Amino acid sequence: MRIEKCYFCSSSVYPGHGMVFIRNDCKTFRFCRSKCQKAFKKKKNPRKTKWTKAFRKSHGKELANDPTFEFEKRRNVPVKYDRETFQKTVEAMKRVEEIRQRRVANHVLKRLQKGKEIQRVCDRIEVQRNLSLIRSPAAGLKKVERIVEEVRTEDREMVMEE
Ligand SMILES: [Zn+2]
Repeated sequence: MRIEKCYFCSSSVYPGHGMVFIRNDCKTFRFCRSKCQKAFKKKKNPRKTKWTKAFRKSHGKELANDPTFEFEKRRNVPVKYDRETFQKTVEAMKRVEEIRQRRVANHVLKRLQKGKEIQRVCDRIEVQRNLSLIRSPAAGLKKVERIVEEVRTEDREMVMEE
């Protein structure tokens, strides 16, 4: 069973699904569904259409150069069915998917962490800028007033003593 990739969105096209367009120079274009074919007919660029794999890859949303994609390429060769190889390929596919998922999770986590750090720095700056809202500037003034008063009373006492 050969699983093709959609020309537009890069999702897998299973046998009996989608459509193939063969241009008059013999280049074939496979589409997973009419949505992708219509987009192609409208001459949309898959790199500029947000929901395609090409867009996600070119905008750093996904792992672009992951070695797990190489496994997939090598697997895309028609193989005669026999139970042993079938089970092996199924196991390999599961393992590859597992590894890829873990990598994607790490990737996403790293990005989230960076976002958190930036947020923390921004918060700190904001707090320092608006410190007067939290700690009243009058708090310092009262202390000064009290000191001034003490000094005055002392002065008065000194005058009285004289
Ligand atoms: Zn598609």
